[in-house]
Amino acid sequence: KESRAMKFQRQHMDPGGPSNNSNYCNQMMRRRNMTKGWCKRVNTFVHEPLVDVQAVCFQGNITCKNGQPNCHKSNSSMNITDCHETSGSKYPNCDYQTSHKERHIIVACEGNPYVPVHFDASV
Ligand code: ADP
Repeated sequence: KESRAMKFQRQHMDPGGPSNNSNYCNQMMRRRNMTKGWCKRVNTFVHEPLVDVQAVCFQGNITCKNGQPNCHKSNSSMNITDCHETSGSKYPNCDYQTSHKERHIIVACEGNPYVPVHFDASV
């Protein structure tokens, strides 16, 4: 079974990216299995080395959107791509708007080792 840490990597890690094209989210949301059963509405990919994203678990501790205390904000801004489902998107033809950004990321971490399991926000 896929661990929460592996699920985070599948849904949020793309260190080699971003490919410089407006179809990035349409391709990646499908390739990473986020368009099976339903279209995941919003999702962020992080284009930084895995070790740098894992290190965020030991950076500034903040409260998550759901009130849990296990969120951490990156000290540095990171290259990310936000994917937002468009208003015209209709499952199974999931359609996304692709926006490349440079932002501080906020992730929730869990476990031993203490690693990212959820992408909370970018600021
Ligand atoms: P994401 O939220 O990164 O888009 P999912 O919703 O698929 O991805 O998975 C998030 C996972 O992280 C769930 O297993 C959830 O229980 C776990 N989790 C741990 N801490 C938190 C938190 N503070 N807020 C939200 N989810 C959390």
